[in-house]
Order: sequence, then structure tokens, then C-alpha cells
Amino acid sequence: MTDLVIPAPPTPTVAVAGDAARFPVRRIFCVGRNYAAHAREFGNDPDREPPFFFTKPADAVIDDGAAIPYPPQTQDLHFEGELVVAIGKGGFEISEADALSHVWGYAAGNDLTRRDLQNQAKDMRRPWDFAKGFDRSALCGPLVRASEMGRPSGAIRLTVNGETRQEAQLADMIWDVAGVIAFLSASIAISAGDLIYTGTPAGVGALVPGDVCTTEIEGLPSATLTIRA
Ligand code: MN
Repeated sequence: MTDLVIPAPPTPTVAVAGDAARFPVRRIFCVGRNYAAHAREFGNDPDREPPFFFTKPADAVIDDGAAIPYPPQTQDLHFEGELVVAIGKGGFEISEADALSHVWGYAAGNDLTRRDLQNQAKDMRRPWDFAKGFDRSALCGPLVRASEMGRPSGAIRLTVNGETRQEAQLADMIWDVAGVIAFLSASIAISAGDLIYTGTPAGVGALVPGDVCTTEIEGLPSATLTIRA
């Protein structure tokens, strides 16, 4: 063991459905635009761009049921309901054909975004880090093992206070899970413990204090967060 001059920081973890043991998180990668209708709602052409990625700190992750304060330095906190992929086996330059063998499991999640800071960053050609990677910005519901559920399919839906705000089919993703893994691992070596947020459908919008926001994906436990009043 390496001697450390301060105690090692705790490893962030996420819940596993039906298991007391938790999944350790190494890094969080997120796909920027992966549903054509969402790309269009921000004025982008979904047919012209390969996928791109941004990251959040691993300790931005929060569990289903979290009640979080409204984040600082924003007046426009947005929800983004997403399928989350948990990597169980690392690799570099993984082929699409081999990609799903690197997946440990799947979860419903929410890529919380300080949209005003993101727009400002775009305008000023600055990085997105603080628009996307702030404290408690990565909701991840309980993971289900890929070995138990196979490939996720069907509907993804996000509700705010019970009202549907986003609804799409996972099949609408421009780059499917295998494609996302192939693209990401062509650029960096992925590792066991990495989470990949696979992008959000159209309909993103603002959350205000008191809101209860739930991401639902067929075959997965839902993931809910509350913005504390
Ligand atoms: Mn997103």
C-alpha cells in the first residue's frame, strides 16, 4: 500500500437493484447529443455530427430518492432524463460488435444541467465543466445487471411532479449503446467503474425548488430526485 499524506477520499458508489453491495464509480462520461429531436431543439443538425462527450466528477453522483438543494450560480437548472451504462470491463478501441460485453449494467438517470451557464459557456467559447459537472449533478438510479436484463429497449420518460415532460424510445438514439462505447473507447481507454450517460431526448426544461423529477425506463427501476424547497 502507498503511504498517503491525507486519508484517501471515499470512492463514490451507486446502488444496485436487489443487492446491498454497491457499484464503485470511477468516471462519468456523458454524450452531448444523441436524440435527433433534442439536437434540433438546440438548433443543431443531428445528421452532421459524430457523438461528442463531456464529463462530470465521479462524486457528482447521487442516488434515487436524493433531495438536493437548488444549485448555486444558476437561475436555469434543467433536467435531462437519460439511460446510464455502467462499464464492468475496461478496454481501448472496442469494436461495436464487442462493446456490450464491456457493460456491467444499466440504470435510469438524470444529467442535471445549469443551462444558463452552459449557454454562457457556448457564447464565450469556454468549457462546459461548471455547467455540467457541479455537485450532485448526476442522478443514477439502481443499476440492473446486463446479465439479468439483456439489452435495454422500449420507452424512456421523464416526469416533473407527475407530469410527463420527456418521452421517447431508446431506439431513437442516434448512437446506440454499442456505438457510444466504440466511439468513446476510440478516444480514451475506458475502465471498470465508468458510467456513461447516453444523452437526453427532446423536452428538456427547468426545475424549481419543490419539484419532484423522475426518470423512467422500461425494465429498470425509476430514478427520482427532489429539489429542496
Ligand atoms: Mn445530457
